[in-house]
Amino acid sequence: MKVFITGGAGFIGSHLAERLLAGGHQVLVLDNLSTGAMANIDPYLDNPSFDYRIGTVRDGPLVRELVDRCDITVHLAAAVGVRLIVEQPVHTIETNVHGTEVVLDSVSRKRKPIVLASTSEVYGKSDKIPFAEADDLVMGATTHARWAYACSKALDEWLGLAYHRDKGVPVTVVRLFNTVGPRQTGQYGMVLPTFAAQAVAGEPITVFGTGEQARCFCHVDDAVRSIEGLMLDESAAGQVFNVGSDREVTINRLAEMVREEAGSDSEILHIPYDEAYAEGFEDMQRRVPDVTKLERTLGYRPETSLEQIVSDVVAEQRAALQSA
Ligand code: UDP
Repeated sequence: MKVFITGGAGFIGSHLAERLLAGGHQVLVLDNLSTGAMANIDPYLDNPSFDYRIGTVRDGPLVRELVDRCDITVHLAAAVGVRLIVEQPVHTIETNVHGTEVVLDSVSRKRKPIVLASTSEVYGKSDKIPFAEADDLVMGATTHARWAYACSKALDEWLGLAYHRDKGVPVTVVRLFNTVGPRQTGQYGMVLPTFAAQAVAGEPITVFGTGEQARCFCHVDDAVRSIEGLMLDESAAGQVFNVGSDREVTINRLAEMVREEAGSDSEILHIPYDEAYAEGFEDMQRRVPDVTKLERTLGYRPETSLEQIVSDVVAEQRAALQSA
């Protein structure tokens, strides 16, 4: 199968490319290298089954050409990372909404299947734990830039599901929950690579707020295995799937785990949200996926242990520090 991956030089996209190539598929990547990097796809450049183009998903003629050359599309290109979203709300909304419109319009012309990446952010401030796919989404006020990301991805979901219903396009939506692992950069605010880099450098580990907020971290290998599984399952079309781990950890405990794994004596420093982000920043306190539907459909659920995840990320950050 020939697979078109938008955002294929990004963190998740490059792991998906690697997995698909190993499985004998052909891969065509489009990336504008905004948060992605050539280094992520460097290992595949000599592979005859791999090809890439540098460009944006907002370029209609380019996207149509690449969609036409492939059997299926996985749309991962998006503005991601809480820091980026808070700092660049216009860019976030335009990239996520307009980019997805272009990609959906392109696949719909030949009714080609697409997997649309969404995010657990769409559950917003819901406190009904765990989050199931049919649950209500509880958005914050439009005056808080953070929720622009959730709303832009929710709109992507609505549009994708509308293309499925109205035009018969096989669209599958995946909501990714805090995907982490090697190649993720802390540059855009993601917590685990940030903590790991701080711990190996002996710098303070910056916990925002009380640190009692919790997340469930999913190893990128589990996430791309799930994406591949859903991509190959025709019965998944028209549906939404949570993809994540359901093991919860507080950010305070995560900071301790990272520090222990790194053998570091970094101080754990608590920083108020207003200093870390913009004034009035709202965080989600808990975010746990219900993965029953994923497990029922694919026969497995993400299961890499948090200890393994922390170990992988600390090892990568240690190697980066040593080669710097
Ligand atoms: N966080 C933190 N220190 C950091 C970066 C993030 O304490 O240097 C917190 C952040 O406020 C949130 C959690 O870690 O409560 C996860 O943040 P991330 O941006 O990785 O993902 P989110 O779940 O917010 O999308």
